[in-house]
Amino acid sequence: MTTYGGVEAGGTKWVCAIGNGPDDLHAVETFPTTTPAETLARTADFFAQNGGVSAVGVGSFGPIDLRAGRVTTTPKRGWANTDIVPVLHDALGVPVAFDTDVNAAALGEGRWGAAVGLDTFCYFTVGTGIGGGVMAGGRLVHGLIHPEVGHMLIPHDRARDPFAGSCPFHGDCFEGLAAGSAIERRWGKPGEELGDRSDVWELEAEYLALGVVNVICVMSPQRVILGGGVMKQPSLLPLVRARTRELLACYVVAPGLSAGLEEYLVSPALGDRAGVLGAIELARLAASQS
Ligand code: ZN
Repeated sequence: MTTYGGVEAGGTKWVCAIGNGPDDLHAVETFPTTTPAETLARTADFFAQNGGVSAVGVGSFGPIDLRAGRVTTTPKRGWANTDIVPVLHDALGVPVAFDTDVNAAALGEGRWGAAVGLDTFCYFTVGTGIGGGVMAGGRLVHGLIHPEVGHMLIPHDRARDPFAGSCPFHGDCFEGLAAGSAIERRWGKPGEELGDRSDVWELEAEYLALGVVNVICVMSPQRVILGGGVMKQPSLLPLVRARTRELLACYVVAPGLSAGLEEYLVSPALGDRAGVLGAIELARLAASQS
């Protein structure tokens, strides 16, 4: 059987795997993101040592230049303007498909996970940063570059929350107010150590609901998936659903908007494997088109 390679290329770690889907995923390897040269060499070695693949998909942290296959203006030290696709293509000699990490995760959730059967949906990841993958009419959205859902501007009540925001580009954009790194800087501790603080999670839910409502109003998704490390706080998703419902104020009415949003605002069904599985699906699509 034809086998594909997937790479979830994150700013903190890279996950490489070989397979055809959730029930056929093997040789999964995770390693830290170090220098570009070392990380890309380790990725190429992984595929060479595991028997080779017919195509590789890469879901990358960004922003990225899809056409050139490179990471562009990332604040991550040493990674700005780094070629990814040309390096892996030269090393492996197979087609290398490329998209954002969150578009790849959205693709994985659409193929096997929480968005099966839907053609328009959004996948948010709320971790160290915030990203969003967007599928519209059955196609991943690219447009000018690709959506940057994490950097939309949302209302910031400075009386309630004087924290200036943590985004190096915009200060108090969505990511600057609501990402895991913002939580840690605002409260002086990482979210994992703030589990019993209702004020922390109510403020977090406020920001996430504002972001979700904006996406609902702009792209009319049939479902919104909220993943990433911050969403592992168990009280958070119910709070986001409740606040989203309040902010929508019964203006958007649709059969898919269940009363409590339990079936509309959901966790990723593929969990932490959404990114790497989506990258495998990117590879499969690239091979079928080449
Ligand atoms: Zn920003």
